[in-house]
Amino acid sequence: MARILVTEPIHEAGVELLRREAEVVFSEGRPVAELITEVAPIDGIVVRTAKIGADVIGSLPELKVIGKHGVGYDNIDVDAATRHGVAVVFTPGANSISVAEHALALMLNLANKVSLAHLEIREGRLGPQKRYMGNELNGKTLGLIGLGRIGRHLARCCRLAFGMRVLAYDPYVKESDEVELCSLEEVLREADFLSIHVPLTPETKDIVAARELAMMKPTAFIINTSRGGVVNEEDLYQALRTGKLAGAGLDVFVEEPPRAANPLVQLDNVIATPHVGAVTEEAMERMAVTVAEEVLAVLAGRIPRNLVNPQVLEQKGE
Ligand code: NAD
Repeated sequence: MARILVTEPIHEAGVELLRREAEVVFSEGRPVAELITEVAPIDGIVVRTAKIGADVIGSLPELKVIGKHGVGYDNIDVDAATRHGVAVVFTPGANSISVAEHALALMLNLANKVSLAHLEIREGRLGPQKRYMGNELNGKTLGLIGLGRIGRHLARCCRLAFGMRVLAYDPYVKESDEVELCSLEEVLREADFLSIHVPLTPETKDIVAARELAMMKPTAFIINTSRGGVVNEEDLYQALRTGKLAGAGLDVFVEEPPRAANPLVQLDNVIATPHVGAVTEEAMERMAVTVAEEVLAVLAGRIPRNLVNPQVLEQKGE
């Protein structure tokens, strides 16, 4: 029977599926690199955000598949996996509604200063009413960087529910009936709310840094639910502290989980969540079931639906 290592807790529905065809072992919070010798041989790994580097992949000769529970697979060394003939599968679409709704929650919260008012009531230090002056979303411009699954769903919600104008920068999308495709500069200059939905790659690292922040309206809000590192944190901090930007809603950070001492989360015009955009009952179940199906497909010699590195099939002559 195949052995599958699950590195972080996943929805029980996924575990049940895996158990029908494999033995499942859990890493119980320990770093994967530390426990591989104990748990080997391993045929498959199911991973959320733990790092699966070349060291781990190279030391598991039986490994055939790594299943990413989620969309952003920047925590997996895909090149190393391909070199070792290990398939990398993932779960695109399983969490896009949840992440888009989380971005919307951050937008509404920033525009209406919900968290600020709540904190100040609880701490007994309410300010004058004008401190909580909000803005309507209606009629404002949403700027998107990245018009994939999450970006498109957010665009639809903002257009249909809030009557927003939606602009998007995505050099890989050539046409859209729903949004105005623009240059990065136009999106930055026009956006009242800028929401980022790109994968973390060498091309998108620091895609928003001091130069880009300087193009934005001082009344604009920035929302990042993609990955820490696509927005330069030091530059964002300076822009927010000096009033060059109205506020930020952040679900992702360079260092996770974010520490209370992170200067960004100490700012009154920042709201932060600890990388939980996809943590809803619905998305957690969909991601767990999909990743289990994909991993089991590879182990059974079937072609998975969501394969990151199809070169492994070519290597096997399929
Ligand atoms: P997707 O692959 O459907 O869309 C990504 C889009 O980014 C694509 O349309 C692509 O063309 C575009 N893109 C790539 N490089 C770009 C660039 N240089 N400039 C502009 N656009 C570029 O993925 P998705 O499901 O929409 O997810 C987007 C990202 O959100 C993921 O890669 C992941 O990092 C992040 N994410 C975060 C959470 C969370 O919990 N906060 C959950 C899911 C996904």
